[in-house]
Amino acid sequence: MESEDELVKTVRPGAVLRRLGRGVLDLLYPPTCLVCHAPIASSDALCAGCFGRLRPITAPWCPRLGIPFQHDLGPGALSAEAIADPPPYDRSRSAVLYNDVARAVVSRLKYGDRPELAGFCARLMHRAGHELWGSDAVLVPVPLNRWRQLGRRYNQSTELARALGRLTGMAVEPGLVARHRHTRQQVGLSREARHRNVTGAFRSHPDLAARLAGRRVILVDDVITTGSTIAAVTRVLAKSGVDKVDVISFARVVVGQETSI
Ligand SMILES: [Zn+2]
Repeated sequence: MESEDELVKTVRPGAVLRRLGRGVLDLLYPPTCLVCHAPIASSDALCAGCFGRLRPITAPWCPRLGIPFQHDLGPGALSAEAIADPPPYDRSRSAVLYNDVARAVVSRLKYGDRPELAGFCARLMHRAGHELWGSDAVLVPVPLNRWRQLGRRYNQSTELARALGRLTGMAVEPGLVARHRHTRQQVGLSREARHRNVTGAFRSHPDLAARLAGRRVILVDDVITTGSTIAAVTRVLAKSGVDKVDVISFARVVVGQETSI
């Protein structure tokens, strides 16, 4: 039987050919900004104008949820959200606020037609997550469910995790958590409905406990919207004995801050 593992590891000859052919293609079709399509010097994702419209998330922030504070509340101060609904993971960090430019980047990342884009996002995530990296930890991408993965050719979170693995030297372990039933979009659901929506949607690979025993896990996702998905994956990891989980994402929806979904 085909396992999620095999799906995740499927070799993508198309991506390799695209990479080989890019030098030639750049001569014929100069690279363009993926957001506004202006010509750019290298195929490295964004023109200076669009890059400047990305909003990096910087300190001060909630040390648990990684959402930015308007004012510095002092060391260790938690956000109201983290106090009202403590997350099961330890720390979450994201590179940028989810705004129009971030949405365009994530959308292109999902279609996988710009393979260099994962590297672009990972460089920003590398900086945002600098407190998280360490040889005690392993990078685990948040899984897509099976039909989404097939429709999309690949899992963008796995591509981000691999790019982060190259930057940090950390191991990447895809396929240890699988999403085995379809979940509705979380946006617009109440907290209870979100919890119901994702509870039981994930299951662990039989090898998970052995592969991750005693290690810290850093979950890798493209966008954190409500946080329910990463919370559900964290609970699955905890059941298999993983007791330290951190999270890194490219973008994060922060209510009231440039969000447009
Ligand atoms: Zn642009």
